[in-house]
Amino acid sequence: MTEPVDVIVVGGGMVGATLAALLGRSGVSVAVVEGGQAPTWSEADPPDLRVSSVNAAAQQVFVECGAWAAMEAGRAAPFRRLRAWDASGRGETCFEAGDAGLERFGWFVENRLIRTALWQALENLPAVTVVCPGEPLAIEQDVESVCLRLRDGHEITGRLLVGADGARSSIRRLAGIDMPMHDYGQHALIVNAVTTLPQQDITWQRFTPSGPQAFLPLVGHHASLVWYDAPDNVRRLQALSDQALIEAILGVFPAELGGIEAILGRGSFPIRRGHARRYRDHRLALVGDAAHVIHPLGGQGLNLGILDAAALARGIIRAQGQGADVGAAAVLARYEARRRPRNAAMIAAMDAFHRVFTAPIPQLRETAAFALGIANQAGPMKRLVMRHAMGLPAFGRAVGL
Ligand SMILES: Cc1cc2nc3c(=O)[nH]c(=O)nc-3n(C[C@H](O)[C@H](O)[C@H](O)COP(=O)(O)OP(=O)(O)OC[C@H]3O[C@@H](n4cnc5c(N)ncnc54)[C@H](O)[C@@H]3O)c2cc1C
Repeated sequence: MTEPVDVIVVGGGMVGATLAALLGRSGVSVAVVEGGQAPTWSEADPPDLRVSSVNAAAQQVFVECGAWAAMEAGRAAPFRRLRAWDASGRGETCFEAGDAGLERFGWFVENRLIRTALWQALENLPAVTVVCPGEPLAIEQDVESVCLRLRDGHEITGRLLVGADGARSSIRRLAGIDMPMHDYGQHALIVNAVTTLPQQDITWQRFTPSGPQAFLPLVGHHASLVWYDAPDNVRRLQALSDQALIEAILGVFPAELGGIEAILGRGSFPIRRGHARRYRDHRLALVGDAAHVIHPLGGQGLNLGILDAAALARGIIRAQGQGADVGAAAVLARYEARRRPRNAAMIAAMDAFHRVFTAPIPQLRETAAFALGIANQAGPMKRLVMRHAMGLPAFGRAVGL
């Protein structure tokens, strides 16, 4: 039995570690229970296969965590332009950050670097204890407190338990919260590539009826390719020799992208979506992928999770400052009311995007392609869409937490 804490966070991934850092910096006592290994990142390592686009709102939260400086000093690649087109050649649009009054759209950062920077921030916070490895076995929700029992017999008591343990959350399951999952029948092939040209500040996105292909800039001569396709096609691409895969990639992107010198790694993931029916239970809350899984084509999953962490942290810190109960139903209700509708809207938007571009009806796909062309002309609407995707309000610089 460890000392009772204010908040127990299960899952020291990018979202759980963010929540713990925000709370720890405000003096809220936290125990983080992580089932995997502590993250490590070194400049000498090749880039992590998993990278995330970090938008302006999430970046601001990382600054508040005291972790952004290490990410930027590591390998963070800014992107300022996005070019998207339909493979049929009927529609194309180009977004420039400057058109939305922004210096950049965001950054591509390796997931391992994000986690490592956050864990380093946690090390400097006396209010945070990390239990790693730790595996939840059972939870006991009492009137005044919640107790987490770990598989090794360890028990941790807190005022609030947060499930930040990803899409297969054991905390969600132990709390009996349902999260129906929809399988898109699509996989994502992720490829780490070395390019002949230095990193460009542009992301390329090509839409096809079987899914989009995106080429994302990383620091130096590195890039990340995400190729969404039917599972059989992804398996076939994954089995290609490096040279054949390079030819397949170069065959679908414009010449301005330059050549590919080498493939450093590849992997694939099934694509699904799901939304927990509720984000809370008695003295319990869900954040990040434990609460929602979104089609990754817009690069929004982590960004939404980071805003969950920020919203929940604000409520907890406010309650603590007022001498109130940090696990009170009112704190959790406010968090759910703030985040669930916003996340639902983004899940629906990405779902609609996926559906129109992969629709079995050619006319619908043509309309979508045509819409890309229209979007290219529609200045104010384009600005609104771009700022929304960055987690920013229509005007000004304030972050919508
Ligand atoms: C192909 C692909 C590309 C993506 N690209 C982007 C992008 O560009 N931008 C973006 O914003 N999002 C992107 N996403 C989504 C993003 O990766 C996720 O939303 C994000 O990883 C969720 O973070 P999380 O911390 O909630 O969950 P996870 O990253 O799943 O972390 C969960 C943590 O909990 C731990 N854990 C799990 N079970 C237990 C347990 N029982 N006990 C203790 N610990 C446990 C795990 O070890 C892990 O550390 C992408 C997703 C995919 C599939």
